[in-house]
Amino acid sequence: MDFYGMTFKALEEYFELRGENKAKAKILFKSIYRENLKIEDITELSDRTKRLIKENFSFTLPIETTVQDDGTTVKALLSFSDGDKVETVIMKHDYGAGLCVSTQVGCSMGCSFCQSGKLKRRRNLTAGEMTAQVLFMRQYCEIKHISIMGIGEPLDNFENLKDFIEILSCPYGLAFGGKNITLSTCGLIPQIERLSEINCQFNLAVSLHAPTDELRSQIMPINKKYGVAELIEAVKEYSGNYGKRIAFEYILLDGINDSTENAVQLAELIKGINCYVNLIPYNETENSEFKRSKNADIFFDTLKKSGVNAIFRREFGTGIKAACGQLSAEYD
Ligand code: SAH
Repeated sequence: MDFYGMTFKALEEYFELRGENKAKAKILFKSIYRENLKIEDITELSDRTKRLIKENFSFTLPIETTVQDDGTTVKALLSFSDGDKVETVIMKHDYGAGLCVSTQVGCSMGCSFCQSGKLKRRRNLTAGEMTAQVLFMRQYCEIKHISIMGIGEPLDNFENLKDFIEILSCPYGLAFGGKNITLSTCGLIPQIERLSEINCQFNLAVSLHAPTDELRSQIMPINKKYGVAELIEAVKEYSGNYGKRIAFEYILLDGINDSTENAVQLAELIKGINCYVNLIPYNETENSEFKRSKNADIFFDTLKKSGVNAIFRREFGTGIKAACGQLSAEYD
């Protein structure tokens, strides 16, 4: 069994089933996740328990294939035990470092502006492989915030994601609070409706990118299945239930979704929701058919005038292809 994929509850059950004291789960979470100890160095456990754990669990971290560091961004290509690779990125903000975690090898959402969707091989990452990204990357610096917005669509891997967030937020272990976790989705509505199953009130970011079905379906195939109106309803409910401010992500693509009219439509669409708009400068990907907007400032001003909170996403790692939409797995 992969230790890093086990929730606290599952570990307690594991010990209980064997007639062992379940308090060992707490000792293990604290020692492994908070104190970064190896099993043999945990003085609170007997030799017999250490043996039991060593025989039954693996503690496998990915292997780092390449690392690029431009001072504010660290991008690592990590290889898992079967040879599958994903990228993960640290962004060093003034207020602390954030880690962008990948959830799948490749992605099947097929958004036309995103490089990750062009990866051939695809499988879900396990909860342990997601946790391992955090453990691996914290060797570089202390991580304050987790963004679940690397390669993959997190809600397309719901069960593993749920376990991962539980492990991440467990107070005995890594102890990230909901305030310090952000999950980004392209809008899988049935799964958005199931978010209450996850016992942690994280921030929700929604990749909207267009204010109408016509436009959104052109650039995001998922919109043909789950349209804009339905998505807005689902998001409203999440925000209402948990008192959470939603982030709507909006990439400004030259001549596609960046007209002043689009800004007015967007403002109208999200009126009344506790939210803000995160405007993302488009990052070039290989053979990209899109260009950065020249209307970004006017778009921003139009939103502001309509009473919408909007910010520009700060750019990280464009030079080392570590920015939004540029993550892939450049190998072979
Ligand atoms: N699948 C999830 C998370 C991964 S993408 C989602 O769709 O939200 C993280 C963010 O980067 C999304 O908002 C995505 O739309 C955006 N993005 C993708 N390609 C981009 C590009 N080329 N330039 C800028 N942002 C991009």
